[in-house]
Amino acid sequence: MPFTALGLGPKITKAVREAGYEEPTPIQTKAIPAILEGRDVIGVAQTGTGKTAAFVLPMLEKMQTRGPSRCMRALVIAPTRELVVQIEENVQAYGRHLHLKYKTIYGGVGEQPQIDALRRGVDFVVATPGRLMDLMGRNFVDFKDIEFVVLDEADRMLDMGFLPSIRKIVAKLPKTRQTLLFSATLSKDIEGIAKDFLKDPVIVQIGARATPAELVSQQVIEVSKAAKADLLIHLLKDKALEMVLVFSRTKHGADKIARKLAAAGITTATLHSNRTQGQRMLALKKFRSGEVRCLIATDIAARGIDVEKISHVVNFDFPPQPEDYVHRIGRTGRAHAIGDAISFVAPDEIADLRQLERFLGRGIPRTKVEGFDARASEVAAAESAAKYNAVNQGARRQSDGGRREGQAHRTGGRPGSGRPAPSRDGGNARRFDRPQGRPAAASTTSSRDGRPAQTSAPSSGRLEKRTNPFDATPWKNRQSRPSSGRSGGPGGRRRP
Ligand code: AMP
Repeated sequence: MPFTALGLGPKITKAVREAGYEEPTPIQTKAIPAILEGRDVIGVAQTGTGKTAAFVLPMLEKMQTRGPSRCMRALVIAPTRELVVQIEENVQAYGRHLHLKYKTIYGGVGEQPQIDALRRGVDFVVATPGRLMDLMGRNFVDFKDIEFVVLDEADRMLDMGFLPSIRKIVAKLPKTRQTLLFSATLSKDIEGIAKDFLKDPVIVQIGARATPAELVSQQVIEVSKAAKADLLIHLLKDKALEMVLVFSRTKHGADKIARKLAAAGITTATLHSNRTQGQRMLALKKFRSGEVRCLIATDIAARGIDVEKISHVVNFDFPPQPEDYVHRIGRTGRAHAIGDAISFVAPDEIADLRQLERFLGRGIPRTKVEGFDARASEVAAAESAAKYNAVNQGARRQSDGGRREGQAHRTGGRPGSGRPAPSRDGGNARRFDRPQGRPAAASTTSSRDGRPAQTSAPSSGRLEKRTNPFDATPWKNRQSRPSSGRSGGPGGRRRP
């Protein structure tokens, strides 16, 4: 179906053609006519489905046909700065043949250009809730001409605690307006805010609730924590992993992974909230252009990253929340590309994996990486930790001695007569004499049901690619459920 069949005019369809889109995606086919008709819409779609164009295209179409105004007419609220910038890039591209003014409003950058733009008059604003509230509080924002408001990635905004701000913002908007809400999941909370903010909405749902993008093939590699970095370096020997987004649970962890990859000669950048806005934009730019091969990110910072051609997403740390998994893997396989998601799962993350599998209603195949010596990595990690602890203990003994010496001078006691200070790691240094954790991942035949793993990788680090690794049989149609962990498992039919 062509874009013109959805009711979009020549200027918008020209821009869409120039963006290289040949036909609308399913969410666009369903949402665009409803929005053009003037309906409020709840769009349940993951990122990567083309949801941004699904709301931006009809909004621009309607805005160009109603004359100009000096005040803000369209407001999109999104959870992160990165997503705001990305949405605005799309608005610029789709609206390039229109005479409308667009502006982003978000924190972490100077506010004056944003204030100046609001004063001069701007038609279309994309904003994060925090900075917008700030500028509203100082009367720089005039909502009287608002025709459209969009809450994008509403589920994430709720998770991030933005609901009170959103309520305050929506309370200031004119009652006669069109409201669009997009969310990857349709939870009770989302239904609640939809009831408060939307009028008689049309629900446009793509696929099942919160299932990962269909085009992303997924696999799990069971590996001890200590061996994860080496495993990643091993996998990166495969040139097929050309543009890799790596997720770390913490900012500190992200920096650590980046250092290890850099030491192995792999170009990396990091994206997390300890980095300035400028550093984050630069990291994204380098990743997009291919200057760096790996981008190491935390969940919040990676939210909404739209980088075309991400070849692989690696969950270095497995996400405790199934929704985060869905968002993470949605970074690859965007639009019509095939992407791969590889999850490293340490023994203490197995429970989170099981929870995800119950959430998805299907199992994720375990992969065996041949030629990777996890045991050697564990031993090396243990040795380096022991060395670190020994150096630390030595330094501490010295400083304790010094302290005690100082005390002795003051109290007249004998230097060094105190009991040895307990080590700061509670005596854990000894723990590293022998590596802990699971045996090497290379030796695990780790399909959950104990059958041989489906996939193996030769020593080049190459993972065997499958066209569709899902076991598509819903759990409810199977003999046993995944939570049992011992029996059952993904016992159903497997697609080739
Ligand atoms: P989104 O879900 O809005 O984050 O979009 C994901 C990606 O799909 C973006 O890179 C868009 O440029 C791209 N995209 C959106 N609509 C289409 C389309 N109809 N055909 C091809 N790519 C699209």
